[in-house]
Amino acid sequence: MPELPEVETVVRGLREPLIGHTILGVTCEQSRTIRHADMATLAARLQGQTVTGVNRRAKYILCELSGGDLFIVHLGMTGRLYVVSDDSHWHADRWAHVILQLDGGQQLRFSDPRRFGFVSVVSNFAEIAPNIGPEPLSDDFTRAGFAEKLKRHHKAIKALLLDQSFVAGIGNIYADESLFRARIHSLRPADSLKKAEIDRLYAAIRSVLEDGIARQGASINWYRKVDGTTGEAQDHFDVYGRDGEPCLTCGTTIEKIYVGGRGTHFCPKCQK
Ligand SMILES: [Zn+2]
Repeated sequence: MPELPEVETVVRGLREPLIGHTILGVTCEQSRTIRHADMATLAARLQGQTVTGVNRRAKYILCELSGGDLFIVHLGMTGRLYVVSDDSHWHADRWAHVILQLDGGQQLRFSDPRRFGFVSVVSNFAEIAPNIGPEPLSDDFTRAGFAEKLKRHHKAIKALLLDQSFVAGIGNIYADESLFRARIHSLRPADSLKKAEIDRLYAAIRSVLEDGIARQGASINWYRKVDGTTGEAQDHFDVYGRDGEPCLTCGTTIEKIYVGGRGTHFCPKCQK
């Protein structure tokens, strides 16, 4: 599933083709791809609006519209957003459930084979996701606040990092990579972490996500950038997807276990 670095990369890629452009029409099918609005409402609230900004909150893409509404996209597992010309050969994309016709002869398409993603139009982001935690790369995510919240949870630290109300945007990949970089075992109860470990984990979360953004996300399955090309983060993983391979730090074989039902990769020697 696309996580913070992948969604951030898509957001950055959408700004140039979308900002300043007006939505002339909407083609969509009523399906679970549209949430919090029906098809007619979605089309009526988007048509004639100009995109004034494109931003990210957690794993959501927020297109700000001139009338004050937000057009929201969540990529789910297999969602892709891309901008193509009207006559593009991409017209054969049978998974393009929502198409926004833009001025200038371009289309924004949301394509999603497995349909876990969705689009919506709201006046306020809280209508979609009222309980999202702090953005880990923003000033809202402080070392002191992080330490304080960890003390209140006894569950496995890996499971807590995946909880979007605890901290926003982290999924399976970047949780595993952060815990490796911080040298903390995935099953450690959150409230058992010592100050030095908390400091390492706080720094690791930020650096792992920043590295992921710099490498334009991880294309391990469906994720692609807006221009259709792949990110490079998958070529630099320390542990994710590397079970059975040697740890790049100590040579010990990387193991895979399940934490809260999610495949979890770690080095049994480096992560205590
Ligand atoms: Zn190791």
